[in-house]
Amino acid sequence: MLSIVGAGPAGGYLAWKMAERGFEVELYEEHGEIGRPVACTGILTPSLWRHIPKDDGLPFVLNTVSEARIYAPSGEHVPVRFKEPDVVVDRELFDRWLVRKAEDAGCDVYRDHRFEGYGEHSLDFRNMGRQVRVSRPRFLVGADGPGSTVAKASGLGETADFWIGAQARFRLHNDNAVRFYPFVGSFAWVVPESRHMARVGLLVPRETRNVHQIFWQFASDIVGDMEGSFVENQPGIVPRHAPGRRIAADLHGMEVFLLGDAAGQVKATTGGGIVPAFAAADALASHLAYKRLNRPTDLRARMSRLNRELWLHARLRTAMDRFKPADWDKLVRACAHPRARAALASVDRDRLLSLLPRLVLRQPRLLTFIRFLARS
Ligand SMILES: Cc1cc2nc3c(=O)[nH]c(=O)nc-3n(C[C@H](O)[C@H](O)[C@H](O)COP(=O)(O)OP(=O)(O)OC[C@H]3O[C@@H](n4cnc5c(N)ncnc54)[C@H](O)[C@@H]3O)c2cc1C
Repeated sequence: MLSIVGAGPAGGYLAWKMAERGFEVELYEEHGEIGRPVACTGILTPSLWRHIPKDDGLPFVLNTVSEARIYAPSGEHVPVRFKEPDVVVDRELFDRWLVRKAEDAGCDVYRDHRFEGYGEHSLDFRNMGRQVRVSRPRFLVGADGPGSTVAKASGLGETADFWIGAQARFRLHNDNAVRFYPFVGSFAWVVPESRHMARVGLLVPRETRNVHQIFWQFASDIVGDMEGSFVENQPGIVPRHAPGRRIAADLHGMEVFLLGDAAGQVKATTGGGIVPAFAAADALASHLAYKRLNRPTDLRARMSRLNRELWLHARLRTAMDRFKPADWDKLVRACAHPRARAALASVDRDRLLSLLPRLVLRQPRLLTFIRFLARS
């Protein structure tokens, strides 16, 4: 039996995949409504379609975006036309769709159940003010986000470092291109929901004091008239991936695993965590299926491709944190070369292990940035 704590995208997706494999799955969510509150921009690379069947009728797809502009402090930018578009999802509908898939496959979903810790032989939840105890399952997965209670209760530590994410929706006429500003805070973006609505956001290191001021300055530069265009705030936190972090523990016969933000499985360059969480869930699903049959299996080996990918993002992030404005100007200028743009267009951000060598081969001037990597 498998219990999953947290019905965000990581928990909902794993519950679906495990129920499809014939596991008895229980999914616990602390909120009464799946998908709320929203703290996400919801832009996903086409790597999403390696995990979810592509279908025209998917209710959560709000927009598709084929063009990106990556800006430098000088105002210059690299225009990139994606070979396959990114999608912008409605996170509430997305999370609900995943949980519905899990339920249709036979998973039991318990809303309003907040995991609080372990009793001697139980998992302890709080439901509408009263304590609920359920028997410990053979497998427990903590997909309960960056502040994971499962991680803390299981001795798997806390998220060591994170970014504060500030984001708001604005009415904004736009040309349906996503804009990235990697030099504003740790990373900033404008993502179109439609031709008339955009999500404007940024990440800053946890110790930043004037987050509010930095965000509203950036947003007003983008939006202009804030009064008439502001719709709603959607802030949240994003864990910083810590390579080598322990994500599994054996608690007297109950095997515990962390998944998604709870495990810090997030691209450190952009803060995107949904596609990596799905890749991790697929690896974990196979691992658990082997375990159930008592066949040998190695989770580390199953996760190795994803972990190398996340390690590279983390390494780039450390290098990016050292950039001065002039370095960003130089990098953007180098990437504006048509051969570099062709590489950026052909491989998405969830496949950095393929993208980076291709970029450097097509634009050898990028090798000058190796010194930042070497020092990171
Ligand atoms: C401002 C912002 C913008 C972002 N934009 C993007 C983006 O464009 N693309 C992208 O890929 N990623 C983005 N991210 C990151 C993305 O939101 C996360 O990586 C993703 O939500 C992780 O999914 P998850 O299921 O692991 O965790 P979560 O989405 O945090 O879900 C965890 C679930 O567990 C529940 N829970 C928590 N504690 C308990 C408990 N004790 N008991 C029961 N339930 C519990 C929560 O209510 C929640 O439903 C963004 C993040 C922020 C903050």
